[in-house]
Amino acid sequence: MCSLTERVVIVRPPSRSPCRTLGLALIATLVALIASCTRESTNGPRPHDVVLVLVDALRADGVSVLGGAEAHSPAIDAFASDGIVYSRATAPATWCVPGVASLLTGRWPSFHGAERLGDGDRTHVRALDGDATTLAELLTDAGFRAAAFVAGSGGFAPIHGLARGFESFTVVPDGGDGGGLAERVGDWLAAHPERSFLVIGIGGLDEIEVGGPVAPRLRAALGARYRSDVAAVDRTVGEVLAALRAAGRYDDALVAITADHGKLLGEHGLAGDSSPPFEPQVHVPLIVKHAGARRAGEWVERRVSTLGLFATILATTGVAAPPGVQARPLDDLHPVWVEELGTGGGRLRAGYDGPEVKLISFADRGETVACFFDLSRDPDEVRPRCDPDAAPVLRAALSSFGRRDRPARPPATLATAHDPAGGLGAERAAN
Ligand SMILES: [Zn+2]
Repeated sequence: MCSLTERVVIVRPPSRSPCRTLGLALIATLVALIASCTRESTNGPRPHDVVLVLVDALRADGVSVLGGAEAHSPAIDAFASDGIVYSRATAPATWCVPGVASLLTGRWPSFHGAERLGDGDRTHVRALDGDATTLAELLTDAGFRAAAFVAGSGGFAPIHGLARGFESFTVVPDGGDGGGLAERVGDWLAAHPERSFLVIGIGGLDEIEVGGPVAPRLRAALGARYRSDVAAVDRTVGEVLAALRAAGRYDDALVAITADHGKLLGEHGLAGDSSPPFEPQVHVPLIVKHAGARRAGEWVERRVSTLGLFATILATTGVAAPPGVQARPLDDLHPVWVEELGTGGGRLRAGYDGPEVKLISFADRGETVACFFDLSRDPDEVRPRCDPDAAPVLRAALSSFGRRDRPARPPATLATAHDPAGGLGAERAAN
């Protein structure tokens, strides 16, 4: 199960890492080390609230603390010192609907069904499979009150089945000022002293789309525009965190900030969402603050999937994962994959084997094409290895993915962006 994952865990700063202390004192095996870390992460105080801040299309390097050289993100940077920073987090999808659905269900996109139709049209999207249980449903059953507040993030919407389990789902327009999200969050907290599960969707970064090849001279302009938009998003994040603090609900909450996917800004001549899963498209921020600031300041450089946040939230709140979930807690070794349906209905997958080997495969009508990138020598992913010498590496990785048990489920319901009622009843395209 873990053959596709990096086998080294690096946690900074060493002086504050219980994992390092255990490893040195007990000369533990790596498996024991990981198990110890896992127990440590789930045995702390249970959070009173769970707050997931989901920024649409935020690249990891859009954030200063994660290496954005010219980024301006003081609120997220400050938050990072309160939590665990997963510096190499990968989104499970390349665009909004499957990305958000994976975060909320703990399933890879081909397992939750909320994907585009096989013809590649993003305005035609299936709703979440009926058997996919959402975090909101699970935490509501555990006694939480669940609410979502979404500003300018079109992919996180009830039409796709993503409001399932929320007793309140508020969508507000975002004119660049966050749409009053923080005030709404504050109002909710004031009215609901009981445990709450809040998902706060922040848009504003999804408007850079170029419908053709991007000329190199445009890249600087795209980057500047993106950084300006990130600065506005960061202000909204800061306001939301301030609302939590003002309500006295920050310290005892699990608060996580991540993104549904990243974005290309001229790399490979492309700009926008739903691009091939090159690193800028899938490398996203992931910062998790536990209740009581437990493990504050840790820095995990092992590659993880943001899918793991689902399992970490369940483990931390003491809620059992439902059947059909692939997510494993972030501290467990777990496969890191990205899934997408190609424009002709073929299945595109990317995955990682070790810290620097990235595989991309495309399967269509029984044919599979697979290549890999050596990120240590080719960080810009411009020299794919598709030669015969690469075959053993690729075969092992692809077979691992194929071994997953595919859950049985009823036919998915089709929802479209032009049909608020959804429910066209289309069958799923072949994966
Ligand atoms: Zn998105």
